[in-house]
Amino acid sequence: MKLPFSLLSLLFILPFIKLNANTEVKIQKQSITLIANELSVLVFDFPVNTLVVRSLNQVNSFDLDIRIANKSYTIQSLDEHADSIQSNLLVFESNNSIEIQSKFSQMVEIIGMYVPPISPIIAQIHRRTSCEEPENIVPQSVWRAGLPDPIPGRVKTTTHHCVVHHAASDNSNTNYTQLVRSFYTLHTQVNGWDDIGYNYLIAPNGDIYAGRDPELFFIQQHNVQGAHFCSKNTNTMGVCLIGNYTQLAPSDTMMESLEKLLTWKYVLDTLMPTKSFPHPFPSGADLPSLVGHRDGCATQCPGDSVYIRLSDFRNKLQDNFNACLPWVGSVRSYSSSSFKIYNNLNQWNIDGQNIEDIEVYNILGHKLDYTTIQTNENSITIQIASNPSQLLIFKIKQNAMLYSYKTFQF
Ligand SMILES: [Zn+2]
Repeated sequence: MKLPFSLLSLLFILPFIKLNANTEVKIQKQSITLIANELSVLVFDFPVNTLVVRSLNQVNSFDLDIRIANKSYTIQSLDEHADSIQSNLLVFESNNSIEIQSKFSQMVEIIGMYVPPISPIIAQIHRRTSCEEPENIVPQSVWRAGLPDPIPGRVKTTTHHCVVHHAASDNSNTNYTQLVRSFYTLHTQVNGWDDIGYNYLIAPNGDIYAGRDPELFFIQQHNVQGAHFCSKNTNTMGVCLIGNYTQLAPSDTMMESLEKLLTWKYVLDTLMPTKSFPHPFPSGADLPSLVGHRDGCATQCPGDSVYIRLSDFRNKLQDNFNACLPWVGSVRSYSSSSFKIYNNLNQWNIDGQNIEDIEVYNILGHKLDYTTIQTNENSITIQIASNPSQLLIFKIKQNAMLYSYKTFQF
């Protein structure tokens, strides 16, 4: 028997309709009055896999027991990164209905989301000790696949402070990719923010996710201005540790990735991890260059277990920084010198008298070979051998004084 053409097409199209139906973000909000210790059942129009509870009568705490498909969860903590009184995110296997019970009577809005999952990403960040950018950072194009785009409008900022956060997310959920997708969906589709607030997110397995989308070619992941430091985001870079570190200690693997990311960042910007700078710049109070969220805002973030490690971590980063750039701090800045350095095609001119020595380093602190092309009383021209990094650091001795100068290779 020959099937009619229309029926054949339908058979062909049906699987795609089903697929499309499951690849879109969906959100449904339901208001409900919870009576103390009484069980309520909430049914959504579609299966949800992410949940947030918002207080409608400004009760500043939650104590909710939730059951979804025979699994129990409790919601007790507030999302300290949100503008309204809402719970931390709950991420679970998709289900249409949830059972909810509150320890006290309150009016709440339950925001159920379906965040379409993708295969979990295992990026395996390389943890070799070095001064270079960590490899295999998971880009937005991978983890954000199928989710709505962020709202455009990025700006660039020069980092003075690196701010460490925790997501306060459920530590038992190890699908970090889905968590990042859920944070992004919450921030953009529920909280109404332009994009995820952090520059980077780090999972307990050490994977690093690129956070806020730099969007414009002249902005980099590390210097796109985020939204994570109580509206004072200028001159900051935000890193969020996935999980809740109020009590649980962060994994060594995660802290190694944080160390590697921040070592690279501090070296790249020639920013000393143990220095302090005013925030907001230039009139605010002095704030160490590495801080926890709570150092600048009214919050417990990044959790006591991370926060107590920050002081030692700062010193560790400073040691790494010194190892990467061994001479920084022991030399005078270029601005106080009486010579000029400028690039001329693939050569460099150092114009000035009494130049006694010239050394050139790359970002890793490795000394680079160069050839002297021309030298006279007032000027020296050199040509630098191949350099894998774009950043060049000149160390120049003039009148028995050492000066440093950092530049980008053209
Ligand atoms: Zn925070």
